[in-house]
Amino acid sequence: MKILFLDQSGKPGGAELCLMDIAKPYGDNALVGLFADGDFKNLLQQQQIPVEVLATQSIQVRKQSSLLQALGSVGQLTPLINKVIQRARKYDLIYANTQKALVVGAIASFFARRPLVYHLHDILSSEHFSKTNLRVAVTLANRFASLVIANSQASKKAFLQAGGQPELIEVVYNGFEPKKYQTSEEDIRQLQQELGFKDKFVVGHFSRLAPWKGQHILISAIAKSPPQVTAILVGDALFGEQDYVQELHQQVAELGLENRVRFLGFRSDIPQLMSACNLVAHTSTAPEPFGRVIVEAMLCGTPVVAAKAGGAIELVEPGINGFLVTPGEPQELTEIINICLQETEKTVTMANHARTTASQNFDVTTINQQISQLLKTVDLLHKS
Ligand code: UDP
Repeated sequence: MKILFLDQSGKPGGAELCLMDIAKPYGDNALVGLFADGDFKNLLQQQQIPVEVLATQSIQVRKQSSLLQALGSVGQLTPLINKVIQRARKYDLIYANTQKALVVGAIASFFARRPLVYHLHDILSSEHFSKTNLRVAVTLANRFASLVIANSQASKKAFLQAGGQPELIEVVYNGFEPKKYQTSEEDIRQLQQELGFKDKFVVGHFSRLAPWKGQHILISAIAKSPPQVTAILVGDALFGEQDYVQELHQQVAELGLENRVRFLGFRSDIPQLMSACNLVAHTSTAPEPFGRVIVEAMLCGTPVVAAKAGGAIELVEPGINGFLVTPGEPQELTEIINICLQETEKTVTMANHARTTASQNFDVTTINQQISQLLKTVDLLHKS
């Protein structure tokens, strides 16, 4: 089967990294059409996944756009839609991986007469999106998609609450290659030395810098933790959140934490960095649709604490494979840090258990088989 994947982003966020894993097994039978140039294209090329930047100018609609702004952007989209229609004729199926990809993919699926699959990586609620964007996404999915793949039960629930049709939606979690998350003791030691981790208890935060990802919550928790507790913030402001980055630096300065909080920027050695940490903290203040970093920490065998909302609740069984804390509560995070400091043996046992179960539950080969089966059914139904 030949698949045209569509994604609006030039930058590698969680949805894009997930797409890479899904597209890879299709080899030359896949084309990833992007609506923006950038590092994501380079990553796809490194993995030998066919990719083409289809848009010549960036699309202006943001997650919080109004109806007027959304309508204004349709004209802007015409050249892109035409290109996608042409490409789609050479493929069996259109796979929209983001909201703007859904808009373009829906129109293209109609004109090119190809089935449309929408991979929903978002919680479609007013916490994340404007009313207009919610309505557009759900209406287009209901009208044009043959299948919606939700990345968690939480994303599915929000889709249904927003008016999505129940018979369209299937939940498939993100897949991971467990082998990629195994780092040798020697490499861990070397990285810890390079980063000056000796005698420190290091809490890692792995996410793009954005207010709802809650890096400020971790910084507040560090300020209340014993002095050997330090933090690394791994990730960049991918979508223009420069004000927040400034606020974070200011917060660190005001709390006198310059020596205890480090900003490492975007990194591609996530498994190694996570393995070098004593604890991985997920601190989103709004419900996380899935939370790749939570599973990745488990695969590394590093204890993980996550904010208790959205997909995180499906991933973490508190006290069994990790910890859950109330979103936006630094005090609870500090308590977990203290537990990890004091109860090392118990925490290590929990992290080892998490590694084993995550390797079984989120294996990319199994997840890709599930997706491939769903796509085959869509393709067969379309052709029959
Ligand atoms: N990530 C990365 N480099 C960084 C920070 C994050 O490769 O510097 C990866 C991280 O390992 C994870 C993804 O970005 O796989 C983020 O996915 P998640 O579901 O946690 O959040 P999203 O970006 O989808 O909101």
